[in-house]
Amino acid sequence: MPINVTPIPTLDDRINDIRMRTARIINEEILPHEEELWRTRRSTNVTDEDRAASEKLRASIKSKVKDEGLWAPHLPLEYGGMGLDFLAHAYMNEILAYGVGAASLFGVVAPNSGNQSILVKYGTEEQKRKWLLPLIEGTMESGFSMTEPENAGSNPRSLKTTAVREGDEWVVNGHKWFTSNGIDADFFIVMCRAEDATGELGRSGQMVQIIVPTDTPGVTIVRGIGIWGSRSSDHCEVVYDDVRVPVDNALGQVGDGHRAAQDRLGAGRIFHCMNSIGQMWRAFDLMVERTLTREVHGGLLKDMQFTQGAIADSLMDVQSARLMTIDAAEKVDRADPQARTAISAIKVFVPAAYSRVADRAIQIWGAAGVSNDLPLAGMYLTARTLRLADGPDEVHRILMAKNVLRHYESGGTWNFSA
Ligand SMILES: Cc1cc2nc3c(=O)[nH]c(=O)nc-3n(C[C@H](O)[C@H](O)[C@H](O)COP(=O)(O)OP(=O)(O)OC[C@H]3O[C@@H](n4cnc5c(N)ncnc54)[C@H](O)[C@@H]3O)c2cc1C
Repeated sequence: MPINVTPIPTLDDRINDIRMRTARIINEEILPHEEELWRTRRSTNVTDEDRAASEKLRASIKSKVKDEGLWAPHLPLEYGGMGLDFLAHAYMNEILAYGVGAASLFGVVAPNSGNQSILVKYGTEEQKRKWLLPLIEGTMESGFSMTEPENAGSNPRSLKTTAVREGDEWVVNGHKWFTSNGIDADFFIVMCRAEDATGELGRSGQMVQIIVPTDTPGVTIVRGIGIWGSRSSDHCEVVYDDVRVPVDNALGQVGDGHRAAQDRLGAGRIFHCMNSIGQMWRAFDLMVERTLTREVHGGLLKDMQFTQGAIADSLMDVQSARLMTIDAAEKVDRADPQARTAISAIKVFVPAAYSRVADRAIQIWGAAGVSNDLPLAGMYLTARTLRLADGPDEVHRILMAKNVLRHYESGGTWNFSA
């Protein structure tokens, strides 16, 4: 079933044009070929020819996306991207994410896209040449290595991995896990606590992100951690044991680490939510479509009132999630002081709404809902995972409440109309 997109009268022509062209690629180039595109994910019984055919098809769609000028919406024009603001990107993403795995065909896939954005913002010319350009060209892969097994990821200030300055080198020691894309990555951006020989930097708790090529001696990929019942994944446990890299591999200044991580995660949270909305839209269409034809107990599902409740609740979930996300994107674009609160709000609300919609769609499809024949099971697991990744719900709820309370404590109130 194609995604149903029409121009929105209140939006400018530029965004509507991007929306309509994105929808055309999704409907004509991606949805009809989803099975061929991703069969290596869906079945273990895949021949080398199948693999090569999928790869060829993906390459051909990517080149059509580039010809349409729809490649890498998150990157500035000078790096071959679209140079979109968050609002335009939000409107584009809710459409492109309707296609399973389509984000990668539009050149915007985590963790590479997040790493590209911080390299654009904090990288030196040399770092951009060495790491950013190959990442954009697709000749390199990357990971972002922040979370540690022994320390709370929900409080990044508790991270213990150190980078000690010794002459012209940083010496990195630490233990990370859930470094996504770790199997294929050529380099990691590693969140470290900076120290020098006197321990002075360490005392002030300054964080720094260090670029570490994965083939540097002392980097050990211990395992791809199995998640959701799978035996392994590309979310890796990594040990850094006296890993020496040139001092120029620091991204930004010592002390920029937290800010760079927040920049990365703030943008990442909006992108994840925008993607979730496209997927909710797809789950919604799949659910409603099924109710029109499936007979149970002598009637069609569409005529059963439990089913109608599921449709109505899902409609409210999708629309409230997308309006909140559009609002957050607008606030980020105009540097509104409430932007951070709006990002935390969608970071909590959207994955929960996405879980509910995927859950209802699975229920309506019955056994087929959890099968690999449909994308619903994958959506359900993704939605649940998103309640943890990029900061768990609780941390964002606390941030929202503190921001609201600050207004009232200083004699003001909350402005919902801002
Ligand atoms: C699939 C996946 C991919 C990931 N990819 C990456 C990656 O590429 N790079 C990376 O660095 N990390 C990655 N992560 C890690 C993720 O960012 C962390 O899991 C997350 O930040 C939470 O940290 P933690 O797991 O250490 O949980 P903890 O900090 O130990 O928190 C555990 C639980 O405590 C609760 N909690 C926390 N604070 C409070 C509070 N104040 N009040 C009440 N309860 C609270 C929450 O329920 C939370 O889930 C990934 C995680 C997953 C699941």
